[in-house]
Amino acid sequence: MNEKGMKEEEVLVILNEKKRKDRRYDRILSSMCTYPHDIALKAHMMFIEANLGDSGLFPGTSEMEEEVVRMTGALLGEENACGYISTGGTESNIQAVRAFRNFKMREWRGTPREGERMNIVVPESAHFSFEKIADMLCIDVRKAQLDDELRVDLSDVEALIDDKTIGLVGIAGTTEFGQIDPIKEMGDIAIRNEIFLHVDAAFGGFVIPFLDKKYEFDFSVEGVSTISVDPHKMLASTIPAGCVLFRENELMEMLSVETPYLTTKTQFSLTGTRSGAAAAATYAVMKFLGVEGMRRIVRKCMDITKMLVYGARSLGVHTVIEPVMNVVALDVGDAERVSSALRERGGWITSVTRKPKALRLVIMPHVKEETVSDFLADLKCVCEEQC
Ligand SMILES: *Cc1c(COP(=O)(O)O)cnc(C)c1O
Repeated sequence: MNEKGMKEEEVLVILNEKKRKDRRYDRILSSMCTYPHDIALKAHMMFIEANLGDSGLFPGTSEMEEEVVRMTGALLGEENACGYISTGGTESNIQAVRAFRNFKMREWRGTPREGERMNIVVPESAHFSFEKIADMLCIDVRKAQLDDELRVDLSDVEALIDDKTIGLVGIAGTTEFGQIDPIKEMGDIAIRNEIFLHVDAAFGGFVIPFLDKKYEFDFSVEGVSTISVDPHKMLASTIPAGCVLFRENELMEMLSVETPYLTTKTQFSLTGTRSGAAAAATYAVMKFLGVEGMRRIVRKCMDITKMLVYGARSLGVHTVIEPVMNVVALDVGDAERVSSALRERGGWITSVTRKPKALRLVIMPHVKEETVSDFLADLKCVCEEQC
């Protein structure tokens, strides 16, 4: 730290230099984040000092958090769901599995299984946050294979379940391919085995309800115990805004710790101090857009996704699966080479999926028709050289 303070203008000069080094989202096709909505920015700045870690001091902000949980629960099939605004999908996933573990630990107390290592079964397509979960919660994370459409294979899920399995995870909108697992069938398996089912809808939770095609993926499926959904992805709230929902309060109570010297008695969140600003931003976007506004945004992203897929096909480039949402995986041969050639040629930031290898593109609201036309022109050149 410098001994003497700098002038404000001097600090701002440095900040501007740093900002220039950062990429703008305009040619980023690899991210599930985007520019925050204007109303989210305004709300964020208005509540910038609010700390939901000590929510008794900020009852107004706290009301907005409760309202976000209620609205999101209602959108996802259970208006009486409880939960809170987390820092994102990673925290939400950790907390759901932590609640399962604590619940089962209590249930197993005094049984022969006590002291044995618990496990959960997740699809091979699960987000890398489950690696952190295995490490932190000291449970085994078993990976079930996928079928040809990159949905989890149900018979493999069943084969991996044993008497130490505490829960299953299904993904509604996989990070790499945007695919939706057969949540209904997974719910049946969970009920039959008396274990929990967590739906990781970090990305898809604010996409699937607004698609023309209907999917059973949320609390409308009986076996679903918890859901994670990220307002800082498709809802265009500010970072950090995740949301973790529990169908039953009893399960969320498994996370409760006492909070001495605060205005509240207990706390469920993983972090202590946490952003009231992101809660206000999420509340503001939801109120401002309504279901109609979100449907419009998702429809637009899907139209542009179709335009991209159509354009790619006319170049002879095909998709790995028929896109379900605004995530596209293109079969371009050597995806790593194509990805770096696109970066060199047009400054495009794309990513490469693990298995099968493909060029991955996320069509967020900052991706416009012109963006896709320019991208396709560069893809054509790159493919003529490499594909
Ligand atoms: C993005 C994502 C996550 C992780 O969310 P963070 O907000 O980055 O912590 C988890 N699961 C899925 C399916 C995701 O797409």
